[in-house]
Amino acid sequence: MQKCQMCKNAFGWKELLFSIWGSYKPIECKKCGKKHTINFASKYVVSLLIIFPSVFFGLVFAPDWGLSKPITFGLIVFIAFLISLVLPFFVKYEVKTK
Ligand SMILES: [Zn+2]
Repeated sequence: MQKCQMCKNAFGWKELLFSIWGSYKPIECKKCGKKHTINFASKYVVSLLIIFPSVFFGLVFAPDWGLSKPITFGLIVFIAFLISLVLPFFVKYEVKTK
């Protein structure tokens, strides 16, 4: 899991998750107060990990199973939610440099 680049204080899973849900809100280290923002590659990974399985499900599985549109949409949201739970293990944050 991501650590603070300055003091090596580990960020919590919840902290990282809420940052992702809050459209990549910067995370402030609880110990030293340094602001960390998600790096560009991670944003890309997050989008791919969420969009690709959702689109794949919507286009391949849902029509095959004969699911109605609202159910397909609900399941896509559910899939995206489940995937987002593991995202804190993949994303990388870095100290904002100005
Ligand atoms: Zn720190």
